[in-house]
Amino acid sequence: MLTWWRRRRRRRRLEQLDTSPGAWAEAWSDLPVLDGLHGDAGARLRRIAALLLDEKTWSPAAEFEMPPAAARTIALLAALPVLELGVDWLDDFETVIVYPDSFMAEFDDHDEATGVVHSIREARSGESWHRGPLVLSWADVRASRALDGFNVVLHEVAHKLDGADGDINGKPPLHRDMGVKAWSEVFLAAYEREVADVDAGRPTAMDPYATEAPEEFFAVATEAFFETPHELLDAYPEVYGQLAAFYRQDPARRLRAPYPA
Ligand SMILES: [Zn+2]
Repeated sequence: MLTWWRRRRRRRRLEQLDTSPGAWAEAWSDLPVLDGLHGDAGARLRRIAALLLDEKTWSPAAEFEMPPAAARTIALLAALPVLELGVDWLDDFETVIVYPDSFMAEFDDHDEATGVVHSIREARSGESWHRGPLVLSWADVRASRALDGFNVVLHEVAHKLDGADGDINGKPPLHRDMGVKAWSEVFLAAYEREVADVDAGRPTAMDPYATEAPEEFFAVATEAFFETPHELLDAYPEVYGQLAAFYRQDPARRLRAPYPA
C-alpha cells in the first residue's frame, strides 16, 4: 500500500479544507457525544471529519433531499471511533448511502437443516458491507444524537473496524500492546453473561441486540463505550478496558457522569 503517498496527499488536501470550529459548529453543537473534545482532540476530529466529507461519495437514496448539515453530522460521528487510530482505518469504503428513513433490506436465508432458502425482507437503520458502502437512515442518525447507548453511525463504523482484518467476528485487529487471548476471554465472558441476563429478563447496560452474535456485541458495546461509558464501566469494566485500549480513548473521563439515581 502506498500509505506514505496517501498521507502526503491528505496533508496537502487538508490545507484546502475548512476545518475551523465555525465551519463545523452547527453539526457539532447537536452531538453531546463529542462533549469534552477540546483543543487538539477537537481539531483532530474536525480534520478526520473534513477528510471523510471530502473523500467519500455521499449518495442520498430514495429521492432523499439531504439537509446540508447531515453529511457533516455523519462525518463527525464516523470520525469519533478513529480519532486516535487515524482516518486510514476507514479506507475500505468509498460511498456513504443515506436514506431518509429506515430502509428495506432483502436477502436470502439458507436453512441448512431443511435446505429451504427463505427470502427475507426487513427494515434496517444501518448496514455496512464488507469493503462496501456504509448505508444509513437519516431518521435513525437523528435519533442517535441522544446519549442513550443507541448510535447507528458508531455501530456501523464498529463493524468496519472489526472487518479491517478481513473477518467480521467481534475482534478488530488489535494493537501491539494488546493481547488476543485477553480480548477473547473478556468478550466471551461478557457476551455469555449478557445472553444469560437477556434470557432471564434482567435489565442490562447494553441494547439486548448485543446478544445476536459476538460481532453485534462488539458493535453495541462500542455504542455504549462512547455514549454511556459510565454505565458500561460499571457493568463490564474489563470490556471497557479492552475498548479503551483499542480505541485509545477514555470517554468516561471526558463525559460527565449521569446524576446518580
Ligand atoms: Zn450490527
